Amino acid sequence: MEWGIINKNNFKDKTTYDIPIKRWDPLSTVRIKSKDFGVRKKRERYYGHYSYLSPIRGKRPKGYDTVEKKSEFEHCPKKIYARVKDVFMAVTEGKPIYDNWGYQLGDGFTIIIAEDDKKCDNPFLDTPHQIERIPNSCKAITLINRYPSMARIIDPEIEKCITEELPPHLKLARGINLVTISRKFYPSLCFNLIPEEIIAGIFLSMKTAILYCVQEAIERDYYDIPVNPFFNIGMKVGGSQPRIHSQVYIDLNGDGHGSRLEGFLRAFKEMGENCHLCETSHGDTDRIILKTEFWTFYTTGSPVRNYHIRFHPNEHLRRFSQLKINQINDLAKSLKIIFQAIDDIKIDKNRNLLFNSCPFGYDADFHMFGDIIPHEVIGGAEMADDMRVARKLPHIAAAEIRESIIKYLN
Ligand SMILES: [Zn+2]
Repeated sequence: MEWGIINKNNFKDKTTYDIPIKRWDPLSTVRIKSKDFGVRKKRERYYGHYSYLSPIRGKRPKGYDTVEKKSEFEHCPKKIYARVKDVFMAVTEGKPIYDNWGYQLGDGFTIIIAEDDKKCDNPFLDTPHQIERIPNSCKAITLINRYPSMARIIDPEIEKCITEELPPHLKLARGINLVTISRKFYPSLCFNLIPEEIIAGIFLSMKTAILYCVQEAIERDYYDIPVNPFFNIGMKVGGSQPRIHSQVYIDLNGDGHGSRLEGFLRAFKEMGENCHLCETSHGDTDRIILKTEFWTFYTTGSPVRNYHIRFHPNEHLRRFSQLKINQINDLAKSLKIIFQAIDDIKIDKNRNLLFNSCPFGYDADFHMFGDIIPHEVIGGAEMADDMRVARKLPHIAAAEIRESIIKYLN
């Protein structure tokens, strides 16, 4: 069931519980009754906490198989990573790739949605294939995730059986999982070493793929589509491959959204005309760490972890996929500076980079924003509630980062 495909061939010796499942937690799920966000057809919709349960996710290859290999990637001298072979190399080279001991790292089969800003395979293509070697001039490519948490294509007869067998609180998880990689190998933990145009290329390829997937999904009568683009940088925050890569979760269940997004949607609704991100000075500017022509970066006043940084385009845009080329280029440049500056003050290199956007089909106001969340071990109380304890005062964290950034400006 790789690539989110469930057909008679791969399902024949499997059971209902081998498929990706979406489960809403009955203790924190509320039915959406209002016509506020996106309701269009007669379908039950919820907000709250949900989990994707996907056995295939556990099958994905781990890029760091030895301690030596891991430390190589962390120190990342260029002469080492120029020779690195990884599972994605089989895709970029369009053929099977073996490591120095003859072990096959990848078979070269893929479904490729976008090469830079050029659309490629249809997002609902049902057969993976080998592609031509990707030219060196290409910066980034977006693929269908081979080990997804949602199913993209399901044989209608199997779907019927599964739906009958599953208890009512469980459902087949439908959606598209994308992964975007750099054409050449760059180690994800050394964001500062990745050329600006490659980072921008990754964003551009993600944007192209999102728009292509959503357009094709709408043609297939999917609607109300939450889209979550993110980077897990480093093994401690879920990054299982050493090459820089991002992911996008496109949920096609049309059954609502998580409680965090509900909070954002309601907050923006309450703001009405007076968008907080358009108007705020972020604590009279003492939490701003970088302001460019296109973006504002600041330490959030309610951090999820110490040194939690938020950023938003200065223009009021609702979605990641609306970013224009000059905003994308400036974001790549600014992120590189900020990542270097926080590396310099010894903040954990394992970080999540998340983008919060308005779902497609929702008639809601929203100002897209991103989060940079450095890894930290958190305690039990934090898991139990939507609350975090941070010891670093946000304006002091901002002052430290600002001081570290100065040397990289101009
Ligand atoms: Zn705004």
